[in-house]
Amino acid sequence: MIADFESLEIYPMTHEIDALIEDLVIANKILYNEGVVDGFGHISVRHPSLENRFFIAKSMAPGLVTAQDILECDFDGVVHDPQNRKSYVERFIHSEIFRARPDVNSIVHSHSASVIPFGVTSQRLRPICHMSGFLGSQTPIYEIRHTAGETSDLLINSQKLGKSLANILGSATVALMRGHGSVAVGTSIKQVVYRAIYTEVNAKLQLESMKIGTVDFLTDAEALATSAMADVHLDRPWALWKEKALSSHG
Ligand code: MN
Repeated sequence: MIADFESLEIYPMTHEIDALIEDLVIANKILYNEGVVDGFGHISVRHPSLENRFFIAKSMAPGLVTAQDILECDFDGVVHDPQNRKSYVERFIHSEIFRARPDVNSIVHSHSASVIPFGVTSQRLRPICHMSGFLGSQTPIYEIRHTAGETSDLLINSQKLGKSLANILGSATVALMRGHGSVAVGTSIKQVVYRAIYTEVNAKLQLESMKIGTVDFLTDAEALATSAMADVHLDRPWALWKEKALSSHG
């Protein structure tokens, strides 16, 4: 059989996209299994070759997502799906952060419980241990009332709200959303899953520590150094979380 030159060209990219979607499905299961998302929350990954596109699940519980449920969405929030399926109302979190941050390749939005208190009080979320140095010195808080007024349902359901959230995130790795949840960003699926999980761990530890005394947080330099250290070891926790998630949820 004569090799089809065109398909040989396309094959490596198809393979790359399949592998990316497989990791996105696993990430959905990990985030559910580790208690970061429940029936709500979502993770996306930037398309590796098409500009202004990303992959995200259709509107459904993250723990149940399969490869067949992954859709392609553009940076205007328009879903490109032959079956006309709908993605999440809050897909604008992803579209506008991808637009604003070329360094970001994957985004998690969750309502993980321990983070919420730090969006509604004067206590700021700060890195408390060497696993969460990525939080840096500032964890910005998004106040939706500044854009949507006093009567919104708190959801990021438009380009305008997505843009204002991306603006508050700035160059940070995590932003809290007052009375709602948080968003974490990363250069890869593995990095953003790590960050989403340890944002929740940090919040839990900070709440515990504040009960018994004044907290000694990482310095900015320690945060930077520990963040760089963690990035070298992303494969190790991923392998464990993947195994745990697949053995409990298939
Ligand atoms: Mn939400």
